[in-house]
Amino acid sequence: MTEKVLVVVSGGLDSTTLLYHVINENPDAAVYAISFNYGQRHKKELEYARHTCNVLGLGHAIVDITSITGFLDSGQSSLIASDLEVPEGHYAEENMKATVVPNRNMIMASIAAGHAVAIGASSLWMGVHAGDHFIYPDCRPEFFRALNAAIVRGNSGFGAIPVQHDNAWPSEFVMTPFINSTKADIALEALRRGIPLEDTWSCYKGGDVHCGKCGTCVERLEAINEAQETLASLGEAVPADNTVYEDQEFWKEALKRETVR
Ligand SMILES: [Zn+2]
Repeated sequence: MTEKVLVVVSGGLDSTTLLYHVINENPDAAVYAISFNYGQRHKKELEYARHTCNVLGLGHAIVDITSITGFLDSGQSSLIASDLEVPEGHYAEENMKATVVPNRNMIMASIAAGHAVAIGASSLWMGVHAGDHFIYPDCRPEFFRALNAAIVRGNSGFGAIPVQHDNAWPSEFVMTPFINSTKADIALEALRRGIPLEDTWSCYKGGDVHCGKCGTCVERLEAINEAQETLASLGEAVPADNTVYEDQEFWKEALKRETVR
């Protein structure tokens, strides 16, 4: 029987790169994708996820969890469509904590794991990366170790998850290959794989084009720029970023501010 794997795809740069990564690493597996509508104001990313899955010919589920996240949020997080302003500037700044949806990865991973077990997938892949660690505790390696253990113990012998023996090390199910990678490492992989960056959406503001000024836009532009510089320094081909940004220069200023602080 063909092995199945499930990838959580947001439509952003990281998870789209992950999707290509997983297809490459698991050439014989049937790859499935899952996305979440959690009421994000940048809901547009879901259309990008759908587009990429269509291009790659993958089965893709979009799960609506707006009733849960709306209930949890209470207007605290600017990620969810509300009157709160999306902060501008460098992602590492304190104000970016306003973009946290409480327990987001746990909620999504839990639902995705249920789907993975139901379809008989042998692994669940998520695109978290090192740059998120210091703001989001649910993006850290210790969280994912605990999550993996909980999921495989809780589904021992179900779907494609092998029976887990009491004192044995839990088997690997939740895969986070980028967990120690920087955003620039991921951008480098994306460029090397020839992934069309304009088919990924990062902007938290969710306008017609990327704003270039919000935390994720600044982080994206910084990472892509660094990756392009790396390729140039190695004498490799440097693919262009064909994404349209409303402000193409702001990120450099934001970066300077962050360095001075
Ligand atoms: Zn933006």
